[in-house]
Amino acid sequence: MLIDDFLHKTQALLTAAVFLLAVVFSLNYAPKAQPRPPKIVLQSHQLAIDTTNYYDYLRAFSIPLLAPEQGEWRYYHHETEQSYAHYLLEEPITITAQRNKIYVLPLGDFSVDEKKLLTTTVDYLKAYFSVPIVLQTALPLAVLPATASRQRSTWTQYLTTYILNEVLVKNLPTDAATYICLTNADLYPEASWNFVFGQAYLHKRVGVWSLFRLKEYDEKQELVWQKSLKRVIDVAAHELGHSFSMRHCVQYECVMNGSNSLEEGDRQPCLPCVECIAKLDHATKITNLQRLEALRHFFEKEKLVKEAELCATLITQVRKYEWLKTYYTYKALRM
Ligand SMILES: [Zn+2]
Ligand SMILES: [Zn+2]
Repeated sequence: MLIDDFLHKTQALLTAAVFLLAVVFSLNYAPKAQPRPPKIVLQSHQLAIDTTNYYDYLRAFSIPLLAPEQGEWRYYHHETEQSYAHYLLEEPITITAQRNKIYVLPLGDFSVDEKKLLTTTVDYLKAYFSVPIVLQTALPLAVLPATASRQRSTWTQYLTTYILNEVLVKNLPTDAATYICLTNADLYPEASWNFVFGQAYLHKRVGVWSLFRLKEYDEKQELVWQKSLKRVIDVAAHELGHSFSMRHCVQYECVMNGSNSLEEGDRQPCLPCVECIAKLDHATKITNLQRLEALRHFFEKEKLVKEAELCATLITQVRKYEWLKTYYTYKALRM
């Protein structure tokens, strides 16, 4: 009995020692607990987006314009806002089943660089408007009469209103949603103006823009491709926007902002703001997401990195909206 008692006591002592050792070991060697990641709780204002209005959601990503400074377009031109509702009241030009193409007429004798700018711009317009672009055979500047031009110190300028009314309006193809002319000559809209980058009518389906002041050369007289291309396509989108009845945008930073100089144009974004997205969606019958995907592909191909990144950011925002809308629809169905 004594031996049994002794054995029981020894076993109990050994068990207690092992337990104590285990506690000491776990205190010393157990990995320290990692701090928990903070729990993300969306605030009500972050969830309460109006998923019934896509454009109200997009409005948060448009940047309101600041007061204009001396030298800028809006400092001298006091234009009123054309909201989406106002635009619709003006019975805007749109792509229709019958008028479903954009025609581009080159005017002048284009250099190799200028031809490349022209064909790349046609690719851009295809992405931006998602319709077939018909590139016509170039016309020589000699088709314009002397009364539609004036002499500057070393070059000749051509009158936009003659090109618009006599060359484009009178030859508008029957399937053209809009008909736009690209020239390498300098332009002026009326005698009192020094020059103009481009001009378009809001309801006659025509517009004209010029490469003359948009090209940039380096010290070796080689074209600075990306900068020149960016300017040409921005003016193309802007003038074509006018030919689809979109007025100058005075509310947000936007490709439809008026511009007085190259510097001002270079500061402006390459994409439309929310009001102008709504107008473009209406005019082209494609979605903003389709346009952004096509433009991102174009910008990546042309190595316009900043513009491609901007498209990618906006695509993410639009996809987030679609995800939230699906989520809320699902939640509403389950209630
Ligand atoms: Zn304009
Ligand atoms: Zn705008």
